[in-house]
Amino acid sequence: MNARSGLVQEIWRIAVLVLAAWAVGSLFDQTLLVLLLALLGYIARNLLNLQRLADWLGSQEAAGIPFHVGLWGDIYSRIARVSAHQAQRERRLTTLLNEYSASTSALPDATVALDTRGRIRWFNDAAIRLLGLQAAKDVGQPLSNLFRNPEAAEFIRRADYSQTLQTTSPGNSERKLEVRMAPYGEGQTLLLAQDVSERLRHETVRRDFVANVSHELRTPLTVLSGFIENLQADQSLQDQRLRRPIELMAQQSARMRQIVEDLLLLAKLEGESKQGKEQDIVVGGVLRLVADECRALGPKVAEIECDIRSTRRVLGDEKQLRSAVTNLVVNAIHHTPADGLITLVWEDRGENSLLEVSDDGEGIAAEHIPRLTERFYRVDNGRSRQRGGTGLGLAIVKHILKRHDATLEIKSQLGEGSRFICHFPASRLLG
Ligand code: ADP
Repeated sequence: MNARSGLVQEIWRIAVLVLAAWAVGSLFDQTLLVLLLALLGYIARNLLNLQRLADWLGSQEAAGIPFHVGLWGDIYSRIARVSAHQAQRERRLTTLLNEYSASTSALPDATVALDTRGRIRWFNDAAIRLLGLQAAKDVGQPLSNLFRNPEAAEFIRRADYSQTLQTTSPGNSERKLEVRMAPYGEGQTLLLAQDVSERLRHETVRRDFVANVSHELRTPLTVLSGFIENLQADQSLQDQRLRRPIELMAQQSARMRQIVEDLLLLAKLEGESKQGKEQDIVVGGVLRLVADECRALGPKVAEIECDIRSTRRVLGDEKQLRSAVTNLVVNAIHHTPADGLITLVWEDRGENSLLEVSDDGEGIAAEHIPRLTERFYRVDNGRSRQRGGTGLGLAIVKHILKRHDATLEIKSQLGEGSRFICHFPASRLLG
């Protein structure tokens, strides 16, 4: 039944009531009184129905409709339909919420939802295990109360969603976590923390293994090289057939020593904590010094120019920074003809500064660029080995930059030259 037919029924009912009251009233010559009584009866019936409706809505099981006919029956059945629909939606939502809650509980990573003011609203089971959170105590607390070390506090304050932080678990100092933040909803944030203790342990084992092997090889290699040098210097060695093999032995042992030294340097760069001895480095001075040293490498070296446009200094390790720049310039020399140009630039880009080593040499094909900083990756293995390259130079540059919170960007095109750009963040700059 629709609302209009219920209304029509009701109007008919009132019309019949009025007509009947009028007829009866006319019989007894009391038309007005009978009409009044009939209308009072009608109002009383409606009041009764209103009371019934209120009782029915108040009762828990609003299922059985107390009245089926007329406008009132119509109202009851509509309300019953709406409430059945809502109950169904509620059941569906509850199921969904239960499933969601079960799935986030099963997640191995800690998930903490924060409100717009950085206070903890909700967290999953892994957050209890990994971060030591307690439901009763920590909901509503600012997240900064949880991570107390200054590096983590700064990370949370900055809320840079592109960065991750490796830190110690607030609940267990043995546990290492990788933390990231992600925005959601309107101004809310999710904190995600992954247990990386096992991964870091494996990395340490690998690093220590490489460092130990390199270290063990150092002494026998030094002894061998010493003997080879003696043989080379021995004028009494008459047999000319031995000259060439001895020369090759000298070359190869020098290469092996260079690889061992580079591997040891890489292990050291990876292993040392960032908070080492920090110096105030005049970058322009470092670039000029490296340029002078490299110009002296020989007549076949391309022209080297310095373009120092910034007076900012970098906070870091001067020896390491010099070694990184030297690596880049020596690489440029190897891949640029003698009549080419190598440019060293130091300039500001807003809050940040960049150090660039560019050349107009042979360039690098696009498919190699993403892999250049991998250990032992070379575009042309044979050529690199021939000139004594270890394939570790750019890996060392990347690690030195990482220790200075800087990043390496490589832009190149085959035949068009290459640009190696080191981006230094404002936090590492002075002046
Ligand atoms: P390598 O000891 O071979 O120089 P690196 O790690 O320093 O090792 O460099 C990796 C590879 O990147 C090099 O083998 C070379 O092919 C390429 N490369 C580096 N710098 C340049 C450059 N300026 N121009 C062209 N290719 C380069």
